[in-house]
Amino acid sequence: MIRRRLRISGLVQGVGFRPFVYRLARRFSLNGRVCNNAAGVEVEAEGSRTALTAFAQALEVEAPPAAVIEQVESWELPAVGATGFVIDSTDSGGAPAAGVVPDLAVCPDCLREMLDPVDRRHLYPFINCTNCGPRYTIIEKIPYDRPHTTMGKFTMCPACRAEYDDPASRRFHAQPNACPACGPQVVLVAAGTTAHQGQQPVDLTAEPTGVSPGEESESFDDSAPGAVAADAAVGPEAITGARHLLRAGGILAVKGIGGFHLAVNAADDWAVARLRRRKGREAKPLAVMVRDAAAARGLVHLDPEEEKLLTSPARPIVLAVRLSAPSLSVAPAVAPDNRRLGLMLAYAPLHYLLLDDELPVLVMTSANRSSEPICIANDEARRRLVGIADALLLHDREIARGNDDSVVAKNEKFPVFLRRGRGYAPGLLPLATEGVELLAVGAELKNTVCLAARGRAVISQHLGDLQNLEGYRMFCRTIDDLSGLFAIRPQMVAHDLHPDYLASRWARQWAADRGLPAVAVQHHHAHLAACLAENHHRGPALGLILDGTGYGPDHTIWGGEILLGEAAGFSRYGHLEPMPLPGGDLAVKQPWRTGLAYLHRAFGGDIPPCFGKLPLPADIDRTVAAGGRKAVIEMLNGNINCPVTTSCGRLFDAVAVIAGGRREISYEAQAAIELMQAGGGLAPPSFAWELTHADGRLIMAVSPMIRDIATAVAAGAGPAEISRRFHYSLVKMFTAALNEAAAETGVKTVALSGGVMQNEVLLAGLTESLERTGLTVLLPQRLPPNDGGIAFGQAVVASNRSAAPQIRSISQA
Ligand code: ZN
Ligand code: ZN
Ligand code: FE
Repeated sequence: MIRRRLRISGLVQGVGFRPFVYRLARRFSLNGRVCNNAAGVEVEAEGSRTALTAFAQALEVEAPPAAVIEQVESWELPAVGATGFVIDSTDSGGAPAAGVVPDLAVCPDCLREMLDPVDRRHLYPFINCTNCGPRYTIIEKIPYDRPHTTMGKFTMCPACRAEYDDPASRRFHAQPNACPACGPQVVLVAAGTTAHQGQQPVDLTAEPTGVSPGEESESFDDSAPGAVAADAAVGPEAITGARHLLRAGGILAVKGIGGFHLAVNAADDWAVARLRRRKGREAKPLAVMVRDAAAARGLVHLDPEEEKLLTSPARPIVLAVRLSAPSLSVAPAVAPDNRRLGLMLAYAPLHYLLLDDELPVLVMTSANRSSEPICIANDEARRRLVGIADALLLHDREIARGNDDSVVAKNEKFPVFLRRGRGYAPGLLPLATEGVELLAVGAELKNTVCLAARGRAVISQHLGDLQNLEGYRMFCRTIDDLSGLFAIRPQMVAHDLHPDYLASRWARQWAADRGLPAVAVQHHHAHLAACLAENHHRGPALGLILDGTGYGPDHTIWGGEILLGEAAGFSRYGHLEPMPLPGGDLAVKQPWRTGLAYLHRAFGGDIPPCFGKLPLPADIDRTVAAGGRKAVIEMLNGNINCPVTTSCGRLFDAVAVIAGGRREISYEAQAAIELMQAGGGLAPPSFAWELTHADGRLIMAVSPMIRDIATAVAAGAGPAEISRRFHYSLVKMFTAALNEAAAETGVKTVALSGGVMQNEVLLAGLTESLERTGLTVLLPQRLPPNDGGIAFGQAVVASNRSAAPQIRSISQA
């Protein structure tokens, strides 16, 4: 008889780990105890050596699906003759924030119970247990305990209480535990009514009230579909009514885990078109939801890794390649001209009640007007969704904070996060340095914020764009929220070097008000530092950062950079050839300006007559007949309002336009995405490019490439061919440039990051090509390569600086 102490660290609190240990101990007839501690969970168990060994093995192999075991430490102790096995639920030694864990999709056991006609939770959409259910989105303060969650206002009935108190139950200390007798309820209300929830029967024949921008041009029959709901729209009747509405083509706002979705029947062209108009979302693809992996396989190709992501408790949206002959129907307007489909599985129990054989695929898009954060409160949804939704499926379990669906895309080799929200947030990453407690406020678009303390970074969920008021408010709220939840009191703030980003201004004001230091971090240095820290690489490393926009210390717009650096600093080793950007930011939304500018530069201000029509075909010549084209050429000739950029995103825009692509875009990177998809791969022969040197830096000259591409287009090459050759050329050029940099500096490790690395063709091609030449490639893995990773990178740089202010091994460029 021996006694063994096991310390398990990782994500093991709030995920049903202690009841799991308890059941396991009983299975192996062990005595002892289990409790939470600061690092995770601690077990002391007594029994035979054989039983203890089997127990320790089972602990790792059979751990609850949402648990992430990072380390198990083990000691042998003298046996004390313990009897029985107890769960010590006091949590006294627990780190206060240890229970702040991501939300979990409903587990198979709960799903089975919900669909069992004799179960007391039959068809109850708030079923959960310690293995599943909401976490981050219901917690109001620490420690994670029912009164500190939005479930605090519901008093458990005796049956629920008994489960909650029973260590053998799957619902032992399941904080959101509930049943139809004591828990939250769903209710269906018509949009545009003012009565409090549940008071107003749904009249779906009525026109939605309120005015939505862009609703005036009525060539489109936009009357609400004529489905009729039952009188009492609470509980199961609410769900029946909601399904009626969806089948009739209506737009349903559904309150979920991290906020509201707008749902329509994905097979219904008319419903999808109507949703797009009302939401003000022209062409950006919409995500769909299906019931299970089998249904997903009726729409898209899924490799084992994609299926694993799709079915994981985090349930992200997976951008998967569509089948040419899908067995389930999805309207073309869901993801027009896109070879991928953003797809997720049902994750809230409520979703399973909406999806069935008659409605196998639902469009599920965040309920907001484009670029605003997701709605979370009932009143807010009813206010903000006037003129968008026909009815709202509400419930009275409040959402403590908004948390959008996460998005991930896997290319041939590896998954890339495009957005980290529900299921992954809050994200925790280790920091190599333990500096002062600090806050990093991120970039302007796809903002996240990051708090750092005690060698650990906490990364917020995706917060969206700060350029609208709602987004800015969410940013401010989240900073307070996370500092409170994780008990962090920042003594320093890190922000982007861009002086005009709202986040930068906020940060400088914050620092001034408190007399605390503010650290400006160059945008691409933050991208590099984030990638290195994620990969536990101390540097120095080369960084190929391909991006849309980032403010450089020389006041120009960077974005096609080869940096040499580490957390402590960086130098600008090389970059793409600087190009003019007529109209600045306007050119981002109107790639035709960029196309014209790159041609103008490539041909020395003298676009040959045979290319005269290239950048601006007939349709654009009309739209800009008022002199747009001429004005742009005058701007270029006179160098008026033409900021200089080395952006790789703009290079993509220019090539897309020259190849005959979209002149104006309605969502970020649309022209570049369409160019990539037109080819879907890379192929020789390369277009021309040149590596030159200026001011001690390596310049990757793309003017020869632009000339070559224009010549090929004039000779009749289509977008598919241009796309494949362009991607091939970039891979060749960047590989040559990085090999030159590696030879000269002796640094053989390259970090790849920046928004352009979301381009799967480029990323896969680069990785393969760089590795073939003997370089080691580091990629963002848990954070997006886009600006969602900037806050973490800023935190890495600032934490390093605060830990060792005297170390500045590489001077700022
Ligand atoms: Zn469950
Ligand atoms: Zn109950
Ligand atoms: Fe960026």
